[in-house]
Amino acid sequence: MDTALARAWVQAIAAAMDTHQDRLTRLDSAIGDADHGANMHRGFAAVAAALPQYEVATPGAVLVRTGSLLISVVGGASGPLYGSAFRALGTALDAADDPADGPAGTGGTVRVAGALAAGLAGVRRLGAATEGDKTMIDAYAPALVAFRVSAEAGAGLAQAAAAAADAAEQGMRATTSMQARKGRASYLGARSIGHQDPGATSTALIFRALADTAAAAKDAR
Ligand code: ADP
Ligand code: MG
Repeated sequence: MDTALARAWVQAIAAAMDTHQDRLTRLDSAIGDADHGANMHRGFAAVAAALPQYEVATPGAVLVRTGSLLISVVGGASGPLYGSAFRALGTALDAADDPADGPAGTGGTVRVAGALAAGLAGVRRLGAATEGDKTMIDAYAPALVAFRVSAEAGAGLAQAAAAAADAAEQGMRATTSMQARKGRASYLGARSIGHQDPGATSTALIFRALADTAAAAKDAR
């Protein structure tokens, strides 16, 4: 993942949040307070507006800046949760560690897998949710597994991200039958069953945006 691709990814997320704002709001109105669409839209619109003026040298810096903006702009649980995810992801992407993953800040696919893992760890640390709690983690965790398996088998970014997006969408759909144990939806108890989780849905959009962006970058080469 290079800097141009990181920028294109967050722009693609902003476009997806614009397209799917009403759908996210409808999902959150069933088991929450009907603000998830507005939260995600506001957050990524701010990122899309600010990033072109932000001169950065590395892909990680783009993602750290994205996370900081989400934290400052988005009210609600999802702002700090996605904010920590992007900050951790960006920090890990730029960290110098295993040279086998390529030079720090360039982001080979295995390095991106490690960075995505750091992002998920950030969400877990802040939200203390686990698989099955009916949150964004139910999309993120299976997406990470699929991405890593694919990356370790030698796939490029586009292929690994496509596998991750498929797994995220499957995880998203699986939240429908779950009872929420974290966040606002947990106040509903058993009445949260039968509704797809809004945060798992926005997470699936974020992985699909990565897959689409990486595929477009590959085609352009
Ligand atoms: P709020 O719940 O404050 O209104 P949003 O509506 O923007 O914030 O986001 C709701 C989403 O946040 C939920 O659908 C869920 O996926 C996610 N979420 C809530 N609490 C947690 C948590 N503790 N850990 C992980 N994700 C969470
Ligand atoms: Mg809400």
